[in-house]
Amino acid sequence: MQIRKRLPITLAAIALFFGAHCLAAQQTERPWMNAKLSPEERAELVLKQLTLDEKLSLVHGNGMAHEPQWTMPLTHLTNGGAGYVEGIDRLGIPPLIISDAGYGVRSSGASGRYSTAMPSNLGAASSWDLESACAFGQVIGGELRAQGFDMTLGGGLNLTREPRNGRTFEYAGEDPLLAGTVVGNMMKCEQAQHVVGDIKHYAVNDQETGRFVVNSIISKRAMQESDLLAFHIALSIGSPGAVMCSYNRINGDYGCENSYTLKDVLKKEWGYRGFVISDWGGTHSTEKASAAGLDQEQPMADYFGPKLKAAVEAGKVPLSEIDDHARRVLYAEFLSGIVDNPPEMGVVDVERGLEVAQHIEEKSIVLLKSNQAVLPIDPSRVHSIAIIGGHADVGMLSGGGSAQVDPPAGNAIMAPGKGATHWQDHIWFPTSPLKALQTKLPNTKINFDSGTDVQQAANLARNSDLVIVFAYQWLSEGMDLPNLSLPDNQDALIEQVATANPRTIVVLETGTAVTMPWIDKVAGVVEAWYAGSAGHKALANVLVGDVNPSGKLAMTFPKSESDLPRPVIPTLPADAEGQGNDSVNSGTRVSSYAVHYDEGPEVGYKWYEAQHKQPLFPFGFGLSYTSYTYSGLTVDSSAKAARFTVKNSGRRAGTEIAQVYATLPEGSDEHFKRLVGWKRVTLAPGESQSITVPIDPRVLQTFDDSTNAWNFAAGEYEVVVGSSSDNTPLKASLRVQ
Ligand code: BGC
Repeated sequence: MQIRKRLPITLAAIALFFGAHCLAAQQTERPWMNAKLSPEERAELVLKQLTLDEKLSLVHGNGMAHEPQWTMPLTHLTNGGAGYVEGIDRLGIPPLIISDAGYGVRSSGASGRYSTAMPSNLGAASSWDLESACAFGQVIGGELRAQGFDMTLGGGLNLTREPRNGRTFEYAGEDPLLAGTVVGNMMKCEQAQHVVGDIKHYAVNDQETGRFVVNSIISKRAMQESDLLAFHIALSIGSPGAVMCSYNRINGDYGCENSYTLKDVLKKEWGYRGFVISDWGGTHSTEKASAAGLDQEQPMADYFGPKLKAAVEAGKVPLSEIDDHARRVLYAEFLSGIVDNPPEMGVVDVERGLEVAQHIEEKSIVLLKSNQAVLPIDPSRVHSIAIIGGHADVGMLSGGGSAQVDPPAGNAIMAPGKGATHWQDHIWFPTSPLKALQTKLPNTKINFDSGTDVQQAANLARNSDLVIVFAYQWLSEGMDLPNLSLPDNQDALIEQVATANPRTIVVLETGTAVTMPWIDKVAGVVEAWYAGSAGHKALANVLVGDVNPSGKLAMTFPKSESDLPRPVIPTLPADAEGQGNDSVNSGTRVSSYAVHYDEGPEVGYKWYEAQHKQPLFPFGFGLSYTSYTYSGLTVDSSAKAARFTVKNSGRRAGTEIAQVYATLPEGSDEHFKRLVGWKRVTLAPGESQSITVPIDPRVLQTFDDSTNAWNFAAGEYEVVVGSSSDNTPLKASLRVQ
């Protein structure tokens, strides 16, 4: 008996002894495996062991799956993903197995896998909610690992300077503090799942037209105070292991060989220690790019393979540069934990993904209009509903390009068996809002009309108590919108349906702003964005009032394109046409195509305020089924905080996003306010809460081009507080000595 009892203890003790012994032995042989050392120390120890060839193997890719023009001998190791960087097996350093993962893991379909689609990044940013941002990153990080990846290419962070940009849905809106904070929190939590994090596309990659050649012309001051600031804020929160440099040129030099943005700002000024990874096919040179601060070419080895080795051997690229590139890649691997915790293939946690996707969407939906208490739907009064358009009987739209997530069972509006999807197909998730609504309203008669025959749709509308038109606008990488109108005759459809029945609600599935010539005719407008894998359930909850909407716009909706800084996107000249990223980087042609960002730091709401233009819906705007009042603002100048009270003055519980803005002191050349902080506050009916919002000093400073320095101007800053950028009833001042 005694022996039987003691045996396991003895065995355990022996196992423990040998385990500890092995670990100690391993750490003596491989001191970088000591997790108590810092990522910097561990990277340095590995670097000392590497041959030149091993160092060089860390600084380039090995092709991309599913792209025949980007095939190399090791491409089969990409795991169906976007890239593969060799590890150093003899030293226990794993390879980088890289996947796109903008709002979910890409290309899972071709590998027989499943990924959850979160709401689009712009949608998620409209929640202004850091817990949601974290959950967004956590789910994607977990799904990447389960699918065998250890690096993400998510983290889109270009500010919305150009709302027609086909990638607007991949980014987090127009304000540097909001976008940087949201994306920083997404990446912090994604990287905590042990995947190397990334933010992109650095920098001023704000339109897709001519993206491989366009020269973004912008002052250093404007860049520093807006576009770059967003990246700096995200880096300081999320510490992602990688920053992806962009395709475009910035004041003449390509994003991936731009010594100002890469070396001077990112690495020197901000002290960034991770690596700069090129956008796919975005490398254009060997010596110049290496000296400017590009650390890793992707997805090929055209410039950072044999050519880089030859340049080192010829003394044209110093070895110290190669060491710096390799050290940064190693640092990112230790920082993210992939050396200690390499990915383990597993089954994606589908249930958790869906639950998180639904809750984020519930916080991201923005109620833009609700007249005559048309929302939430009251089933005791509404007995028949006409649902019109937008394929609402079968699904909801998603955003395309490299961010595309494959829906379960394929495209919901394509006949089954149609085969693999192209990266610019319009993909509909099988998430029918009609079915979700019918589940919520079992006793209401719901009829569907596709909206293709406007007259037929109007007839159905006329004979229904309530009408919901589902309107869509598809966006993708590789294209810009010609304008912000809804496509496919949808404006005319809405107009006629609303004329037939003014109790019409429009639900928008869009990736950016849309113009609304019919706005005065409809009773309600709900912006649902690209709603993700459980968006239909979230939307139904909002429409029936089980969830009180709380989202607020992360970008301005203009009345018309003529109000934008550039009423039209400059036309691509003939010398730039037809250049793809696989051809452009092998040639030396330089296009004359440029976009002048003369609006400078006046991005989004700042532009509208400075130019005295009234938008259709301002930045920060969003309604609720209850109402809030604001009072009692005081500003603590030494602690840099605003204190005020928000009261739920209505009859439903709700969450308000209270926003704090500040205007620079007199004498400044700025004619707009800047978002300096916000707070989400959940209140029961009648409840008041006194809240404190710290004022982020980073967003109050100005950058001086001539001295390359930041100034925090002394004087009185006007601080205003309210429910959106153009509704700020409270005023006080902040004194800076
Ligand atoms: C996009 C990147 C993406 C990469 C890899 C490029 O076309 O600009 O955002 O990560 O492809 O798919």
